[in-house]
Amino acid sequence: MDFSYTPQEEAFRAELRAWLVAELPAHRAEWPATDDEFTLHPDKSFDACLAWHRRLWRGGWVGIAWLREYGGRGATPVEQMIFNEEMVRAGAPPGVNTIGLMLVGPALLEWGTEAQRRRFLPPILSAAEIWCQGFSEPGAGSDLAALQTRAVSEGDGFRVTGQKVWTSNAHRSQWCLLLARTDPAAPRHAGISCLLVDMRSPGITTRPLVQITGDAEFNEVFLDDVRVPREHLVGPLHGGWKVAVSILMYERAGIGHVTGLPHYLRLLIDLARRHPREGRPGASHPAVRQALAQCWIEAEALRLTGLRAVTRQLRGEPPGPEGSVLKLSFTETYQRMAQTAAEVLGLHGQLWRGTPHAPDGGRWAFQALFARRFGIAGGTSEIQRNIIGERLLGLPKG
Ligand SMILES: Cc1cc2nc3c(=O)[nH]c(=O)nc-3n(C[C@H](O)[C@H](O)[C@H](O)COP(=O)(O)OP(=O)(O)OC[C@H]3O[C@@H](n4cnc5c(N)ncnc54)[C@H](O)[C@@H]3O)c2cc1C
Repeated sequence: MDFSYTPQEEAFRAELRAWLVAELPAHRAEWPATDDEFTLHPDKSFDACLAWHRRLWRGGWVGIAWLREYGGRGATPVEQMIFNEEMVRAGAPPGVNTIGLMLVGPALLEWGTEAQRRRFLPPILSAAEIWCQGFSEPGAGSDLAALQTRAVSEGDGFRVTGQKVWTSNAHRSQWCLLLARTDPAAPRHAGISCLLVDMRSPGITTRPLVQITGDAEFNEVFLDDVRVPREHLVGPLHGGWKVAVSILMYERAGIGHVTGLPHYLRLLIDLARRHPREGRPGASHPAVRQALAQCWIEAEALRLTGLRAVTRQLRGEPPGPEGSVLKLSFTETYQRMAQTAAEVLGLHGQLWRGTPHAPDGGRWAFQALFARRFGIAGGTSEIQRNIIGERLLGLPKG
């Protein structure tokens, strides 16, 4: 593999760096850095991340890989990778509307009508419309095809009734990318459709669910006879399973690919330098050094595996089951880093934010709990292992 960059790619990097040098301090002057912004913007940091998102958008730096006609830059996969690297290097906060950008946009580009793309893509980029993903239900998570939410055809649209759960950001969203059963008589994978649902429609109730970290980022969503016009059907009627599978692949590749792990590793090494373990700096303790080296190796392996995914994109291929490798490796490395911080800090590592003597304002206790989410959201680690076993290794179905 050729790891060198072309002059155009270097020019792209220089343009982005120059923009960051001007814009990031201006953002920081208004919104000083907080730990919260690196934890997918829970309540405390959402406004700051939205302000940063809008700044990126005004500069033309959101959805850069999308075609110019839909508001993107037509950036190549390598430029997208450079963009991700530079954001982490600069310590820039994340933007918002992850589901819109990572799932809805690509789904509409692959499956949507031209009218849907023109209507929905620009406000995704500007975050004028925030999106959520209504896939999981109380009886359908890993086994997504068991979903029971019904969409009954009526006139020029559908009437949707059912319940979704764990719907991230539903309380902030104007739109939901929703799976519903349109043909209950068909075999279960064959009777599903994908709909774009206006969250302001009569009949929708959103109830927050509090997570282990104390934040309420996800929700239960109840749909009671909600009207959805037919032009908001994405892909073929009853053919939503294929749409869902491609969305899940975008999700897995996305979670594993855009990673702040190098930033997290820097913080962890800094922590080990500062915090004593058994009477000497943690960074000179053999067990801590081994753990840090292991974290670095895994983060580097993940980066290189990410390059494989870029190669796939350069060939014009959509994300494949390799996304499961990225997602699983990301999850395990992130959790190992949280575990290493806990080992460096010992009992202090359990002190929560707001508690006197909590190291770094309780960041590490929070991270230890926050890291658990990645082994569940976007498909559990067990499911990723099943996919890798069956689809990459060719093992028989379990
Ligand atoms: C932070 C967070 C955010 C989320 N956001 C969203 C969202 O925005 N939209 C959305 O639709 N969903 C969302 N989810 C839901 C997520 O996709 C589901 O929780 C996940 O798919 C697992 O489904 P489940 O919770 O029903 O668990 P289950 O499927 O009931 O699984 C329970 C356990 O059994 C194991 N298991 C199940 N089947 C198998 C199998 N075949 N082989 C081996 N082990 C198996 C699982 O790995 C797990 O350990 C979110 C979840 C989290 C944690």
